[in-house]
Amino acid sequence: MLDCHAVTRELWDYLEGEIEHERAESIRGHLALCELCMPYVQFHRAYLDVAAASPARSPEAVGQLRSRVLAALADIGGRMVDGDPSDGGEPSDG
Ligand SMILES: [Zn+2]
Repeated sequence: MLDCHAVTRELWDYLEGEIEHERAESIRGHLALCELCMPYVQFHRAYLDVAAASPARSPEAVGQLRSRVLAALADIGGRMVDGDPSDGGEPSDG
């Protein structure tokens, strides 16, 4: 059984279909039951819609938008996940 943290970490790949089928099924099962993860799914789907509809789908533009979305998600996650707020382990793109 996945927890919310694992689901939100893999949600991006899940929605883009870049994930193993069994893994996707596990995430789908969690999302069907979990109210906490619902905002994440809606947020990601909204982003993907915008990205798909955008006339300028350059990798740079999408990358910038993605960064903004991830930042917003991190803000949501800070309220939802009970953890230390100043633990950023991801390297910046370069
Ligand atoms: Zn959840």
